[in-house]
This record gives sequence, C-alpha cells and structure tokens, in this order.
Amino acid sequence: MSLQIIKDAITNKKMLCPKCNGPIQKFEKYAETVDAVWDGFGDSRVESRGSRVTLICGNDNCPWNERTEYWSQYLQD
Ligand SMILES: [Zn+2]
Repeated sequence: MSLQIIKDAITNKKMLCPKCNGPIQKFEKYAETVDAVWDGFGDSRVESRGSRVTLICGNDNCPWNERTEYWSQYLQD
C-alpha cells in the first residue's frame, strides 16, 4: 500500500525535499482515493486510484511542504 511506501521512504530517508535536497521528515493527512470497479460479470473489485498526502520537509530553515497526489516523484531509488 502506498501509505506503507511513504512511511518506509521517510524512515529510510529515501524521500527528498526538492528545495533543500534533505530527507523529508514527516507527512500528514494521508488519504486514499478508492474506486469500486465492476467487471460486468457480477463480481466487483476495488481499484486503488491513488493517494494524496501532505509532505513536510522539516529540515532546518526549510519551509517546504506540499499536498500532492504525485508524491512518488520525490522517491529515490
Ligand atoms: Zn527542504
């Protein structure tokens, strides 16, 4: 799940602030957008369409934070 990915990335300092290039220290207000999709044969499946989170740099003197659905762009390999 993307919440776990975000948690792990922050814990492992693999999500970097685009402003100061320091590791993003925390996040809040994680929300997942989930749509139920019907396949037309009487079964349903749930498809996760994405998630939104507020990322907060939290490093000294850096005010950067962003609420985004595109948090994966800040992930490092
Ligand atoms: Zn920063």
